[in-house]
Amino acid sequence: MSNYPHLLAPLDLGFTTLKNRVLMGSMHTGLEETRDWNRVAEFYATRARGDVGLMVTGGIGPNPEGSVAHGAAMMASDEDVANHRIVTDRVHEAGGKIAMQILHAGRYAFSPDCVAPSAIKSPISMFAPKELDEEGIEKQIADIAACAGRAKEAGYDGVEVMGSEGYFLNQFLVTHTNKREDRWGGSYENRMRLPIEVVKRVRETVGKDFIIIYRLSMIDLIPNGSTYDEVLQLAQEIEKAGATIINTGIGWHEARIPTIATSVPRAAFAWVTKKLMGKVGIPLITSNRINTPQVAEDVLADGCADMVSLARPMLADPDFVAKAAAGDSEQIAPCIACNQACLDHTFGGKISSCLVNPRACHETELKLEPVSTSKRIAVVGAGPAGLSTAISAAERGHDVTVFDRASEIGGQLNLAKQVAGKEEFWGFVDWYRTMLDHHGICVKLNTEVSANDLDTFDEVVIATGVVPRDPQIPGQNRDNVVSYIDILNGKAIAGQRVAVIGAGGIGFDVAEHLVHDGDSTTLNLPEWMREWGVVDTAEHRAGLSPEGPKPHKPARQVTMLQRKSSKVGKGLGKTTGWIHRASLTMKEVKMIAGVNYENIDDQGLHITFGEARENPTVIEADTIVLCAGQLSDRSLADALEAKGVPCHVIGGADVAAELDAKRAIDQGTRLAATL
Ligand code: NAP
Ligand code: SF4
Repeated sequence: MSNYPHLLAPLDLGFTTLKNRVLMGSMHTGLEETRDWNRVAEFYATRARGDVGLMVTGGIGPNPEGSVAHGAAMMASDEDVANHRIVTDRVHEAGGKIAMQILHAGRYAFSPDCVAPSAIKSPISMFAPKELDEEGIEKQIADIAACAGRAKEAGYDGVEVMGSEGYFLNQFLVTHTNKREDRWGGSYENRMRLPIEVVKRVRETVGKDFIIIYRLSMIDLIPNGSTYDEVLQLAQEIEKAGATIINTGIGWHEARIPTIATSVPRAAFAWVTKKLMGKVGIPLITSNRINTPQVAEDVLADGCADMVSLARPMLADPDFVAKAAAGDSEQIAPCIACNQACLDHTFGGKISSCLVNPRACHETELKLEPVSTSKRIAVVGAGPAGLSTAISAAERGHDVTVFDRASEIGGQLNLAKQVAGKEEFWGFVDWYRTMLDHHGICVKLNTEVSANDLDTFDEVVIATGVVPRDPQIPGQNRDNVVSYIDILNGKAIAGQRVAVIGAGGIGFDVAEHLVHDGDSTTLNLPEWMREWGVVDTAEHRAGLSPEGPKPHKPARQVTMLQRKSSKVGKGLGKTTGWIHRASLTMKEVKMIAGVNYENIDDQGLHITFGEARENPTVIEADTIVLCAGQLSDRSLADALEAKGVPCHVIGGADVAAELDAKRAIDQGTRLAATL
């Protein structure tokens, strides 16, 4: 019997059967906006070949005013139908099923023409919406229903009506955004009229044998959001209105509680869906931070839902289901929930991809094709850049040897995994180890190679990474001044008062590490909920504790500093930076910008401010941690060059500035595709 009997069980919907319980949740990748429909089709077909039960496309607008932004993909014309037909045909040929998400963004639309129940601008929007009149509401319903009709015409197996995350339909449901006094506002019966009417009209349009998923916000996490009783009532009405499946939405986009970031515990919100199990007669899907087959299986076996939705994990590995079914789960490339190449790209107006899998959304362009002649390839450095090159080159058929002077693979990933809230990095390094074994790659650890050791190889790849930058602060040679490396790998123990010099990604990681004492709420759901102030919606409206967040006491008093006068943490990820800042603020970490480092002595760290070096201040500190960025370690590359041995230099060894694993892995994989 399979290890995942619940996950791999088919789901009979009456008129059609899904081959397993895995839904690829909707993600806005930006692919549809490229208008390169072959590329869009290949993205979905790749996942269909990986045996996912059902996929949902990124949000497609029903009309210009409801689209997420000007120029965003819509399903509103015959041409749209013909384009989407390319996608559905390719998915069906690959044996998959696909539903199209209809996304009306309401006041979240990035457009001066956006519309909403009331003219209230959201805190994350540029534009105030126009309040719809009765006729305007009818138009939106008609456009959504017509959009569903076209989706059916284009060959989709169903539609998902986006009713959560604070989008249009969700905006009608709660008094936070709906101040109307007509039949679309006021009582809850009135406020839920629109979502119900939409589902009814969509069902009338598409007929009976067509999947309608309704994405329902089960815990809003915003002030004046829905209560449990309201959510339950809505779910039952949505079923009556003709939905086939209800999917779970967690938190509005404007909520200030993390819901999908890496520091959120795995399956953190499965309990929310479980509360509705047995209360409706149609299948329920649960979602958020479900990233391994075992987590998914446990959620289903525990009766939390009938299906699980995995979105980002399907970017990380399109063969998630096929590998789980084949007993090869450890080969599944793990989604580490970093958002760096998916959501951060989406919100930055770039096409999504995946840090772990740079081929995601680039299937037609970044190909790892088998080679006719196998080369002997040396990769020096077993960090993310070197490992990605090695594995991708071996996948193509090359004979690869990896060298590293360290005693274990992973490079800087081994530092990241020490940080509370970054536990996913352990699995990431394990995955690399599995794949090295799987491809029979020779790994020589504890091995310092010189230029003379490399001239017998056909290709040499230098991925030697970085060395910490020396900030040259007078007094930094004192015993209490340490590098981030020694703090994260446990060689140095920090005192009670710590100054962190440098507030980039690593400065933030170090500060997070220092305010914890071995504890991590990411591994303890009740504590994580307490820390962020999340409660059951049956206790308090929208799942927000009236007492607010209750963070643990910080293990140390930490001060972070930077020379730039900009906001500390400004350069962090678009969708996760606020979480890092909020988390450290909860732990009373002081963040000071615009400093000059004058010197370090018995009193602590002496700083001044601005060009005039004014306002001399002492940061009293028992320990001072240097997180001042990195420089490329090019010593081996330079030696090879001097010897006339050609080599490829990648990752931090190539460019250290703002090095991150995303760039390193992408560069390594792209190099391997050309070797
Ligand atoms: P970074 O993001 O470039 O930040 C370097 C910090 O050092 C900045 O705050 C900078 O601020 C300061 N700095 C630069 N030159 C300095 C000098 N001469 N003296 C004093 N301070 C100086 O680099 P990072 O924090 O090392 O992170 C590197 C990359 O790794 C980032 O892209 C990050 O996202 C990623 N990352 C890696 C890990 C990991 O564990 N490996 C963890 C998190 C993030 P001022 O110039 O304003 O002083
Ligand atoms: Fe997951 Fe990060 Fe990849 Fe996004 S970029 S899919 S969060 S691993």
